[in-house]
Amino acid sequence: MTGDPISPVAALRRIAFLLERAREDTYKVKAFRSAAATILPLTEDELSGHVADGTLTDLPGIGASSGTVITQAWRGEVPERLAALEKQYAGPLAAGGRELRSALRGDLHSHSDWSDGGSPIEEMAFTAIELGHDYLVLTDHSPRLKVARGLSAERLGRQLGVIDAVNTHLGDGFRLLKGIEVDILDDGSLDQSDEMLARLDVRVASVHSKLAMDPAAMTRRMVAAVGQPFTNVLGHCTGRLVTGNRGTRPGSQFDARAVFEACVAHDVAVEINSRPERRDPPTKLLELARDLGCLFSIDSDAHAPGQLDMLDYGCERAEAAGIEPERIVNTWPADRLLAWANR
Ligand SMILES: [Zn+2]
Ligand SMILES: [Zn+2]
Repeated sequence: MTGDPISPVAALRRIAFLLERAREDTYKVKAFRSAAATILPLTEDELSGHVADGTLTDLPGIGASSGTVITQAWRGEVPERLAALEKQYAGPLAAGGRELRSALRGDLHSHSDWSDGGSPIEEMAFTAIELGHDYLVLTDHSPRLKVARGLSAERLGRQLGVIDAVNTHLGDGFRLLKGIEVDILDDGSLDQSDEMLARLDVRVASVHSKLAMDPAAMTRRMVAAVGQPFTNVLGHCTGRLVTGNRGTRPGSQFDARAVFEACVAHDVAVEINSRPERRDPPTKLLELARDLGCLFSIDSDAHAPGQLDMLDYGCERAEAAGIEPERIVNTWPADRLLAWANR
């Protein structure tokens, strides 16, 4: 980071990005994101007036620390908070996987505030563009996942209209793609109608319930899900949590060979979920899927814009497992990805 001037909005967004990327608590981040949203529509004169009068904190969503950031940026200084975070957090997240990371063209798994993500659709798209992605698949949750405000068919239909509108504003060079993280129901069917699934570009299917199911039943459930005509990616296959503020839990037990063979047979990619609290699949299963010839998708599963950068972790693991970039579907250009996902 140089000492170049940065606009107040850019400073607030960058601070939020760095905090999210470092997995800081969302309440710390929210202050900066809401302050950015408050000043974005202000004219230069309005903003200058508030800085000059010291009345920034009278505006909704602006507190002492975001007010200081705005004031310092407005004066042409690098805000102290930003400088400190750049120093502390801006380095690469993982030591390995750099080459693979630069080969990735997009991300197939992300959430907005339409389900359990923390930011609006357009903010996820802007950040994906800033990270150099050619595409981002928005995959909010399906109806059954009520705790995550899963989208009904009706809300998903409305979201598709919003995605079209966002793409119109973004212009060429980047595509926000339509997707879903659809729950795998107990019998292996998917938690959204075929009619809606057909309107999407990419579908990630994941188990979010009854993770401790008997292994034989879980195998049948997952094999059935992988065989559904619309399934493209098998999300975080074991569901394990290895660290983080949600606590830890063991992964589901199932016949991984049978499930990954089904993935090969149905041309479904196995997700390498980059979230440090998931690190899913575990290394032994990752190597089994590699040996069986599976395709992979390295996904961020981002629930906030800064978390889109977590792909570093998945790339490090994929590289360590010796998985060729060609077998990773998000190294493919968008057109090839879409042809694969909608064959
Ligand atoms: Zn999930
Ligand atoms: Zn997810």
